[in-house]
Amino acid sequence: MSKTCIIVGASHAGSQAAISLRQSGWSGAIVLIGAEAVPPYHRPPLSKDFLKGGKEIDEILLRPVSTYESADIDLIPGERVARLDRGDRLIFLKSGATLQYDKLILATGAYPRELPIPGGDIPGVMYLRTAADVLAIKDKVRPGGRAVIIGGGYIGLETAASLRAQDMDVTVLEMEDRILQRVTAPVMSDFYRRIHTEEGVRILESCAATHILGGKTGMTIVTNTEETLDADLLIVGIGVIPDTAIAKQAGLEVGNGIVVNEFCQTSDPDIYAIGDVAWHHNPLYDIDLRLESVPNATDQAKTAAAHICGRGKPYAALPWFWSDQYDLKLQIAGLSSGYDAIVLRGTPDKGRSFAAFYFRGETLIAVDAVNRPQEYMIGKRLIPLALKGKTIDKTALADEDIPLKDLLK
Ligand code: FAD
Repeated sequence: MSKTCIIVGASHAGSQAAISLRQSGWSGAIVLIGAEAVPPYHRPPLSKDFLKGGKEIDEILLRPVSTYESADIDLIPGERVARLDRGDRLIFLKSGATLQYDKLILATGAYPRELPIPGGDIPGVMYLRTAADVLAIKDKVRPGGRAVIIGGGYIGLETAASLRAQDMDVTVLEMEDRILQRVTAPVMSDFYRRIHTEEGVRILESCAATHILGGKTGMTIVTNTEETLDADLLIVGIGVIPDTAIAKQAGLEVGNGIVVNEFCQTSDPDIYAIGDVAWHHNPLYDIDLRLESVPNATDQAKTAAAHICGRGKPYAALPWFWSDQYDLKLQIAGLSSGYDAIVLRGTPDKGRSFAAFYFRGETLIAVDAVNRPQEYMIGKRLIPLALKGKTIDKTALADEDIPLKDLLK
């Protein structure tokens, strides 16, 4: 009898899992169910080209809809899975239908953390996670209009750059003492503060919104520094929460994400979890974590699909990520947390291109490269070697007269 694999969540992880299952030889039915009304699309452009107005939704689809049809994948957009019954292997759709699975993949991703202050829930406070969110934001973009962004992480800063490109007057509030504090080193924060300031963005650090007042024409943001800001557009980007609701309801092991093993299997061996929602182990760094990145979502999708088809290889990828702001392409390889020294190649305090190499003791653990594709590529090859014991010459790394590829020898 033909078997059925159901995938819940139709974005980077879910879409890749469906395609990879077919490519790995799954001959049964594949059902890909997504709560969003549109077919799976690239999420990173939402804060970049899509917000800037350069792209329509059809131009950012992950795959043409015909690809799912020709792979015999039953794509069901605009439908939410309400709950699971693991005993009878059933999923219950919000619309009332029930489907049976043999294997189930949870690719439910994450949703924005809400602003936990008075007025944080008034209409007009906007979040940026989905294409629908961005369409609503775009309606409020006007040259000369006042935009306030709460949260100085990558998404907040990309949004600031995209709104400046449309001549909005932009202020970013960051409650920590520096932007990007939770994700990177002071040298990167200093660089991005300088660039955004040069581009005309007002950056307020150590500044937390304490309440929001809504008016007929806009909003007022009151802060802990006695500053009040009037805004025509207010966007909150203060992080995301993994969407573990149906996993919890079904009694799967859940912490800060759905707990999975090296094959992306949950505590129920017939149920897998992949992408932003998966709490997993990274053997290169020997830590447990959740990653919010496209490469992680697609790589875990391939791992789960291969394992379901009996060809499992443990997930052991080097994390990588990127961020585009103005003409700056930041590429990140590895995990920098726990670093104790940074080696710079180039000068972050002037110009728009440099690389920061992160070391723990003598071990190279990560690189942040701004407009430096070679540093990124070679760093990405050096880090796994370094994690296995190769010593990287720090002096050579900092010396721009020494070709980086010499370090690979
Ligand atoms: P998601 O993309 O979150 O998708 C999960 C899907 O599951 C959603 O469509 C949701 O509606 C659906 N879902 C949830 N519960 C249910 C349910 N019960 N029933 C049905 N459907 C359900 N990463 C990078 O690597 N580089 C970048 O430059 C970058 N930029 C980004 C910019 C923005 C604005 C955002 C928001 C993210 C960015 N990311 C970037 C992160 C990246 O987009 C995510 O890591 C990636 O989308 C994770 O994919 P996913 O499939 O795991 O989850």
